[in-house]
Amino acid sequence: EPDFDTCSSSIQFNNAIRMERVEIVPNLSLQELIEKKTTAMDQQFKDDSFMLVNIGNIIERYREWKMRLPNVEPFYAVKCNNDPVLLRILINLGVNFDCASMAEMQLILDAGVHPDRIVYANTIKAVSHLRFAKENNINHTVFDNEDELHKIKKYHPNAKLALRICPDMKSCESRFQLGIKFGAPERDVAHLLKVARSLSLDVMGVSFHVGSDCLNPIGYEKAIIASKKIFKLAEKFGYHFKELDIGGGFTASSALEMTFEKAAVTISKALQEHFPPESGVRIIAEPGRFFPTRAYTIVLNIIGKRVVRKGNNDPFDLEHENAHLYENTSDIEKVLYYVNESVYGSIGFITLDPTLIILKPLNAGDWIYFEELGAYSLVLATEFNSFKKPKCFYYIQEEFWNEIQGKIDLPFDFYNMS
Ligand code: PLP
Repeated sequence: EPDFDTCSSSIQFNNAIRMERVEIVPNLSLQELIEKKTTAMDQQFKDDSFMLVNIGNIIERYREWKMRLPNVEPFYAVKCNNDPVLLRILINLGVNFDCASMAEMQLILDAGVHPDRIVYANTIKAVSHLRFAKENNINHTVFDNEDELHKIKKYHPNAKLALRICPDMKSCESRFQLGIKFGAPERDVAHLLKVARSLSLDVMGVSFHVGSDCLNPIGYEKAIIASKKIFKLAEKFGYHFKELDIGGGFTASSALEMTFEKAAVTISKALQEHFPPESGVRIIAEPGRFFPTRAYTIVLNIIGKRVVRKGNNDPFDLEHENAHLYENTSDIEKVLYYVNESVYGSIGFITLDPTLIILKPLNAGDWIYFEELGAYSLVLATEFNSFKKPKCFYYIQEEFWNEIQGKIDLPFDFYNMS
């Protein structure tokens, strides 16, 4: 069994220094794999929570993207999960990157990615981060307000800009709306283009984000139609737009009825109608949760249990106390389980999709797991109470490994399960 202490930390990106280890797993179900891992943990008297990462799943998601939206270039939103193994796979598959900050840009550049493969997709940029982008030839960025245009003029005057618009949030029905903070309302667009022109800035396209976990693909369609209008308007200001960025928001959780497949049908149709390939417009997107969600399963240890009993709260009621014998279950009101993770750690969003898989009746020392926790989990984790973030343990199913041999360059240290 691998030693969990040698597994990579999810925030370091030292692929050149140390080969990440990936276990080739014979055809086991996820549950069987977890049982095997947790048995090994028990034998080593270890009880830290950990992530199991099926790297094959990331490749499958990429293939799905290519199949359903072949004309849309994905720029993966690093904020969603910056696990170095995930990033390395996406880099080698040819996916580009949406970075929100200097540190994210640095992370991707350090991995040897060409600056042209990066969009600095934060509409509100710290000056130091903007200067960093300029110094490192990251020229592709976005804006949605007048102040930002002046900032860009001062610190990155030759940047290629996309005007981020605010989509009709109602029709998107997204679980996390971004439009309150980001995206220019339609009424501001003409003014922003006028200011950009007066500053001789190179505005070359439109971007939008329908909000994360978009439950209604009509939101994409409406935003694509709105973008087309802005492409036309831009001509009046002497701009000939070349790019449309349809943002992120693509659902990934299999618990949701709204699937990527459904969104892709609507998006493809809208793009075909308003931005067909012969228009020459480059179509890009910024998927975040789409890529990592399903690959990550978090395994948690039950570190304690409290039986809460019915009855009065009088500590001197000794008669009642006698009823509290351990075996007596008749007066149990509820049982509280304590795990070594929390909403301040990697499971902040767990309350949204609470699919808990229990391996056996629970007692301290038992393990439970939650599937599909690859998005906005590790990146949001604090070390509250000094509980460490879960380590990632990477694996690939043997069958899938055989299928991709020689087709995809995966620079990891693959080893067979003992
Ligand atoms: N792009 C931008 C600018 C974002 O703010 C976000 C998420 O907040 C994303 C892309 C990724 O979104 P999602 O994970 O919903 O695909």
